[in-house]
Amino acid sequence: MPVPVEKVRLPVNYKPVFKVILSQLSGSSWGAGVNSRSVTHVLLLQELHDGKLHRKAGELLCGADKGFDITDSQEKQIECKKCIEILKKHNWIEQGV
Ligand SMILES: [Zn+2]
Repeated sequence: MPVPVEKVRLPVNYKPVFKVILSQLSGSSWGAGVNSRSVTHVLLLQELHDGKLHRKAGELLCGADKGFDITDSQEKQIECKKCIEILKKHNWIEQGV
């Protein structure tokens, strides 16, 4: 389930970004359906160290390769399962109302 950004309580500055997923460079799907395959990740704007988690500024929370196409997201929720998993594990999601 996506997590609304207003519930994210990261100890450092971050912003939601789209990572465009391109499965292959050849084939008829190039350029088509790109947005539907993109998910919103947490991009860290500052270094983050918490337990075993170490991220540099400019890295995605989930540690995924940023690839070659990443754009600011207007989405108001985080969709990357891995990012959400980490947020949950470290209690960086506000509980309740
Ligand atoms: Zn992610």
